[in-house]
Amino acid sequence: MLADVTRRDCATISNPRKLALPIRSSMETRTAGLLAYIERNVERTLGACTRCGKCFEACPMPAYSPKLADAQGGEIVAGVLDILRGSGSAPGAVEWTRICTQSASCIPACPENVNPMLMLRLAHIIALGSTGGTPLLADPKRDPDFFRRIDAFAALQLSDAEIAEWQR
Ligand code: SF4
Repeated sequence: MLADVTRRDCATISNPRKLALPIRSSMETRTAGLLAYIERNVERTLGACTRCGKCFEACPMPAYSPKLADAQGGEIVAGVLDILRGSGSAPGAVEWTRICTQSASCIPACPENVNPMLMLRLAHIIALGSTGGTPLLADPKRDPDFFRRIDAFAALQLSDAEIAEWQR
């Protein structure tokens, strides 16, 4: 019995097509499931949000972004909804999706039972171009200068001894 199983497994593994197809198909299923989840939640958010801006007002992060210094919550949220529709790139809305730290302070602030944190997360995914649209934000994981920036940052922040230790 064990020998049969081993022979069967070896036959599958020795044929890459047989091994690859089920994996690819399961990846496609997961991707389709994720896109359906995003679509469902985008629709729900677009249907329920009244653009009152209370989530933006409750968010602690705009205080740390000069780009959002004089921003009006309703306008920023309207821009986020446009990103969800795939038809907007308002700089303030893109900035809010970029700086979200998922503090969740916005969730209890919403009177319409929208999850604004999820709304921002979805807008961020769309803004990165991950659902197939034009990217509005640079993906730091694809930044070819990422490690050079880390080195430059270290040079500004650390002592000579710490830099020598860092680059060892
Ligand atoms: S997500 Fe909720 S709190 Fe934020 S603007 Fe929409 S309705 Fe208002």
